[in-house]
Amino acid sequence: MFIYCSEGQDVFEVASAVTRGPDTEGTPAGAKIRNLNFVWYKLKAKIGGKNLEIKTMNSESMGRSNKLTILNLIRKYPGISRREIVEMTGLNPSTVTNIVFDLIEKQFVQEGEKGFSGKPGKRRVSLLPSKEAATAIIVKIGIENTQIGLGYLDNSFENVYEIKTSSNFDEFFDIFVDKIHTLYKNESLRSKVMSLAISVPGIVNKNAVSMEIVPHLEWSKIEIGKRIKERFGDMNIPIYLDNEAKLSLMAEMYFNEEIDKFKDGVYVYVSQGVGGALLVNGHIFLGTSFTAGEVGHMSIYADGPVCHCGNRGCWEEYISIDTIVRKYEVKGRVLEGKNFKEKFENLILKGEKDKIVQDILIEMMHYLAVGITNLTNIINPQFVMIGGMGEKIPNTYIQTLKNEVKERALESATKDLLIMTSSMDMIQSTLEGCTLMAMDEFSKEAIL
Ligand SMILES: [Zn+2]
Repeated sequence: MFIYCSEGQDVFEVASAVTRGPDTEGTPAGAKIRNLNFVWYKLKAKIGGKNLEIKTMNSESMGRSNKLTILNLIRKYPGISRREIVEMTGLNPSTVTNIVFDLIEKQFVQEGEKGFSGKPGKRRVSLLPSKEAATAIIVKIGIENTQIGLGYLDNSFENVYEIKTSSNFDEFFDIFVDKIHTLYKNESLRSKVMSLAISVPGIVNKNAVSMEIVPHLEWSKIEIGKRIKERFGDMNIPIYLDNEAKLSLMAEMYFNEEIDKFKDGVYVYVSQGVGGALLVNGHIFLGTSFTAGEVGHMSIYADGPVCHCGNRGCWEEYISIDTIVRKYEVKGRVLEGKNFKEKFENLILKGEKDKIVQDILIEMMHYLAVGITNLTNIINPQFVMIGGMGEKIPNTYIQTLKNEVKERALESATKDLLIMTSSMDMIQSTLEGCTLMAMDEFSKEAIL
């Protein structure tokens, strides 16, 4: 939690907001903050181990930061009341009232249900983000299919089109960009489209809005942002790009109460190929050239089969859904389904009775455990989340995986480790991640 204060602000106001008490020991009433370090030191001493940081800035940008904090709280906790905002931020009640009033006036926020607050004469009014205040086009480029939809300020989204992903980029691009342009021009949307957010199954350069490499489609160095603007000059909106595993982790950190307080974690995105994202000290770690988290290319077998990345015995050669499906589909055995995703889903269903499937899944758990052991020993995370199509793996198998990690990994690294499957399915987590990315940027742009 952050408390924003500025020089010149009333010491009493800041201290009482933080400590919930009028006790400012020896501070004369009306004293202004002159030395922020000193105030910080005094407050820290007072609140002990509370997880709190004081950020200092001038009073004008402080006001804007508070406004953004409050808008983001209303987005994250729809239905929150003014009083709860005061409690969570430590801001002065009148400051909160003024900011909320301003957000309502700008139509970013609306009042919802009015209920009983528990205090005589006071009614609790819930606050909600206005869904239609901002719309973004969201895209999940998948190796087999691509979803195109719309995301809104209240973090809801809808999936509008599904198109086939052709490995011929030019062929894919023609269909893809037409669908995006149709949505952009859609007159029936109540607010205009503010941005475009794209999830990529590969390595992206966010600054250059470029797909550096999408190994399974053999795309490399595609400046997709530039290409879209060249095709449709009228689409003058910001374009954001990120990797699918990073977006999925972002969505889980936002919505999943089981992990939203954690600072260190690993997200393993099991799909065709295996991606990942590392949460380090509360931030998604990018690395020097955006490749951090590519856990699928960790070699778990020095002399294993050659991977398309050039390395040998990469983790994804053992646990990706195409590998698992292929393991079953030998000797004339065929799984139902149009693509690997559907085939993997059917394989899981078959596993309830079919011994061959059970053996394949048990072997998959073994290889998953080997990789997760390596990651656990290196990163010492609070959680490892198995997402993407890994979310479909039944709990009984996850339990065998947990047991093996516990046996293999350093004892102190597994003491408090949580291993779990993701709470959202692959399409939901990625499109939700796109929506969050677009709406976080919108909120910042609109307020700061
Ligand atoms: Zn590899």
